[in-house]
Amino acid sequence: MAEQPLPATAREWHLVSRPNGWPVPADAALVEAPVRTPEPGEVVVRNAYLSVDPYMRGRMNDVKSYTPPFKLGQPMEGGAVGHVVASAAEGYEVGDAVLHFQGWREYATLPAAHTVKVDGAQAPLSYYLGVLGMPGLTAYAGLLSVGALEPGETVFVSGAAGAVGSLVGQIARLKGAARVVGSAGSAAKVKTLVEQYGFDAAFNYKDAPVAEQLAAAAPEGIDVYFDNVGGDHLEAAIGALKVHGRAVLCGAIAQYNDTAPPAAPRNLALAIGKRLRLEGMLVGDHTGLQPRFVREVAGWLKDGSLHYSETVVEGVEHTMDAFLGMLRGENTGKMVVKLG
Ligand code: NAP
Repeated sequence: MAEQPLPATAREWHLVSRPNGWPVPADAALVEAPVRTPEPGEVVVRNAYLSVDPYMRGRMNDVKSYTPPFKLGQPMEGGAVGHVVASAAEGYEVGDAVLHFQGWREYATLPAAHTVKVDGAQAPLSYYLGVLGMPGLTAYAGLLSVGALEPGETVFVSGAAGAVGSLVGQIARLKGAARVVGSAGSAAKVKTLVEQYGFDAAFNYKDAPVAEQLAAAAPEGIDVYFDNVGGDHLEAAIGALKVHGRAVLCGAIAQYNDTAPPAAPRNLALAIGKRLRLEGMLVGDHTGLQPRFVREVAGWLKDGSLHYSETVVEGVEHTMDAFLGMLRGENTGKMVVKLG
């Protein structure tokens, strides 16, 4: 494919102030910046899809964490997929589709070694930000490796209609769970969980206390809890877990915008008598599972046994809206931004 002239400038999102509590649109600014020509070993990628993910909220704070904070006045980072439009790297040609980490922008100039080639013929490009990417591996590794799910067990997952949660519930089903229960934040999402994703039961956590609704949905208790939410969800799950139950601590989105410590869980001491295992996880520790994950999940997508949803927001100028919308629950499945 012939190399096209690069635009002189393109748009990128900068963090301009650190949110205190809920982020607001004015915390980020869309800035016109020069598109740098590639140095030897580098490629220029025109992004086709940007990912917006909950962990980005943590990177907006100036605190030490497992990923460094975003810098003020600098482009934010995140997953993105796109096509190489200029290459000074051996083995990379114009037109190659790649996954990389310089999202929140239209064009990225970066070392080819920091990209992974993906196959747009195998799956839609955006899938590499979701079901075949980081959230997919999180669900797969969290449930099967950290949660050590066994056939015949009962699984409860919170954030069940989101990118990770919708896959956790379906993978549990495919791996022989006896009962799969999910919670989500709207009646429409609850309906999708049961009617499309094959959950045995689901409830809207906004309708009544989680502990009450979980007890009704899983009267015999649960073996594995996949926690995307924290707080009262985790407290309810600790109460419902059977002896030797496991909780996969994947996320705590209910508290990402809190300015005070969470009130729950208040019942952690139950973990002693029930000999529970509560284990935090980071997807980056599970890259060894990547080949098995891709093989198995791609197979399920192909034979139709795994359903995958996306909420697609169009236009780089709406990336911050998509991020804020995801935090508010406006997505079913993975929230992605499609660039023109
Ligand atoms: P997602 O579930 O697609 O989107 C976030 C969802 O969180 C929203 O759609 C919303 O759905 C829900 N939510 C927001 N506020 C909530 C609240 N107060 N209580 C309950 N639910 C709330 O996001 P995702 O990418 O799949 O991530 C899910 C979780 O996994 C997050 O906690 C994330 O940080 C974590 N994660 C961890 C790792 C890791 O390596 N540990 C990797 C990826 C993701 P509702 O409409 O249902 O409220």
